[in-house]
Amino acid sequence: MTVISARGVVVTLDGNRILTGVDASAGAGEWLAVIGPNGAGKSTLLRTLAGVLRHEGEVTVDGAPLGGMSPRERARRIAYAPQQPVLPSEVAVFDYVLLGRTPHLGYLAREGRHDRDVTRDVLRRLDLTGLAGRRMGALSGGEAQRVLIARALAQEAAVLLLDEPTTALDLGHQQQVLELIDGLRRDDGLTVISTLHDLTLAGQYADRLLLLVDGRTVAEGPPARVLEAATIARHYGARVRVETDPDGRPQVRLVRPGG
Ligand code: ADP
Ligand code: MG
Repeated sequence: MTVISARGVVVTLDGNRILTGVDASAGAGEWLAVIGPNGAGKSTLLRTLAGVLRHEGEVTVDGAPLGGMSPRERARRIAYAPQQPVLPSEVAVFDYVLLGRTPHLGYLAREGRHDRDVTRDVLRRLDLTGLAGRRMGALSGGEAQRVLIARALAQEAAVLLLDEPTTALDLGHQQQVLELIDGLRRDDGLTVISTLHDLTLAGQYADRLLLLVDGRTVAEGPPARVLEAATIARHYGARVRVETDPDGRPQVRLVRPGG
């Protein structure tokens, strides 16, 4: 079943056509990774799917148009961790992650025990318990990125949109975050759409890749089909070698010209 679907998305920013008719969809438990060179429109597509950007074309969640939903209704279905978030520097980490619970609270209601339990659990799963009392402004880049993901997970929405969730993370935390998300989609049927600039990681975790170039889809399908050396050379201007893991997942390596 398709959970989130975008059809014919066109986005114009400051008079520039950024997306020129993009389709994207993902079903329950599915992970779609949006890849493409810098400036291709990946973040723009995620912002459109999150419902925070004016666009032409239709985005639906469980068949219901996003355009007809209140922000609160939307936030109960879609959690979004942007690439360039504005983080409140004086708020404590725990309180920031707890804000993810807002769409579940009654009108004027305060967070209850369950909301704090969810928050604590997410902090623990992301290795952030020790930072719960720290103010946001005193976090390292990688810590702040994990806190942003924690807030999105605390939202407990069926659709998770993650824009470059691992760029600032060390190897161990990259693996921890990606494995955690992979587990959530397997166990809870979470639908994940992420951008990932590391092509090998994208190919290791996603079921399908969507390659965006200049605001349009140039390839879509299983990782082994999209991550071909010739495709990458053409669209990224990079020389790579693609090797295949025993499980059929591609590994993309840069090779030096002449090497
Ligand atoms: P990506 O995430 O793939 O790197 P983005 O979606 O962030 O790309 O941006 C796609 C293109 O849109 C880029 O060329 C960027 O410069 C341009 N862009 C983004 N925001 C605006 C804006 N407000 N006005 C004009 N152009 C924009
Ligand atoms: Mg981006």
